Amino acid sequence: MKIHEYQGKEILERYGVRTQKGIVADSSEAAGVAWDQLGGELAVVKAQIHAGGRGKGGGVKLVRSREECVQASGEMLGMMLKTHQTAPEGQKVQKVFVAEGLDLVSEFYVGLALDRQLGKPVLMISAEGGVEIETLAQERPEALLKLAIDPALGLQQYQARRAAFFLGLKGETVKKAAKLLSGLCKAYLELDCELAEINPLVLTEDGELCALDAKMNFDSNALYRHPDIAKMRDEDEEDPKEVEASKFGLNYIVLEGSIGCMVNGAGLAMATMDTIKLHGASPANFLDVGGGANEEAITQAFRIILSDPNVEGILVNIFGGIMKCDVIARGVIGAARTVELSVPLVVRLEGTNVQEGRQLLADSGLPITSASSLDEGAQLICEAVATANA
Ligand code: GDP
Ligand code: MG
Repeated sequence: MKIHEYQGKEILERYGVRTQKGIVADSSEAAGVAWDQLGGELAVVKAQIHAGGRGKGGGVKLVRSREECVQASGEMLGMMLKTHQTAPEGQKVQKVFVAEGLDLVSEFYVGLALDRQLGKPVLMISAEGGVEIETLAQERPEALLKLAIDPALGLQQYQARRAAFFLGLKGETVKKAAKLLSGLCKAYLELDCELAEINPLVLTEDGELCALDAKMNFDSNALYRHPDIAKMRDEDEEDPKEVEASKFGLNYIVLEGSIGCMVNGAGLAMATMDTIKLHGASPANFLDVGGGANEEAITQAFRIILSDPNVEGILVNIFGGIMKCDVIARGVIGAARTVELSVPLVVRLEGTNVQEGRQLLADSGLPITSASSLDEGAQLICEAVATANA
């Protein structure tokens, strides 16, 4: 789960990380009030969307008066902000963060993410902040220091000092950096983060280290341990189809292709997507209905797939182990009846009660093509979509 910058900063403050102070606003009037409350001569208006690269896309503006603040907020609110991390049409700005403007001496990068090869979180540090870290890591890996963190011990003091020296810090600032980095690591570990990133971390003219940006992503499977964080979820930022799917316990991720997939088990879903690719088309989604999904979940899954305008055909590939094939068949038939089925549908069932399942499909009177293997199913749906488009 992702959260907004202003929420990330709230959390980091709790862990002793100094952040750029600000007030969130959802109208230009509120932004004007925020300017008054901050009481400075310089502020920065920042679009709150769940994507980075806002600066380049026009989502971060320095303002020097109340009028400028109100105007910049008015322009930003409601706009479709496009960055390299949003969908091509952009993401609608619903809130801005009006923050105190700072005079910066340097911009650094610090971030924590899980290194799957090491099986540990890794702290990444660079003296070249404010830029895209992916590009830096590829082009000049020597500019990035990586320190593996033992999850049982957290960040060690020697590691914190090494990081501070790598940033070229001296004296008191080294201690401040060590405290800040320890706080960041503690937050990452305690809150089950997938990513905790400060880009840029800045050194101000008065020698303070301050998080100018904050990006925190959380492991959704661990959210039950953090109800306060779960409350920070902003469904406006998520794909409405994915939000809907999560209500029914479905693991659903929107992709760019044209074949809708309904599969049980993540491994089988991956194999299904590969096989579709092999036959020349691309999957429109990843969907794992899970082991114990009932008829209702199947119906909902089917509805969600069909609500995607990119879907030109559907492949259902279910192995009936815990979930029986006749249950799947009833769900598919029920959904196909309630939702107007306007695209070809291929169903491959295997496992418990497969004969009953196939019989139900055959007797339904619906235009459903049965397949006897994954390969055949993928081939049939790819051919059906290609024929429809020819
Ligand atoms: P992102 O583009 O989505 O990562 O948004 P950031 O919060 O990182 O802001 C982008 C850039 O705006 C930063 O790298 C800074 O260079 C600049 N910026 C943001 N706030 C301030 C500020 O208070 N003072 C100055 N001088 N620059 C700022
Ligand atoms: Mg940033």
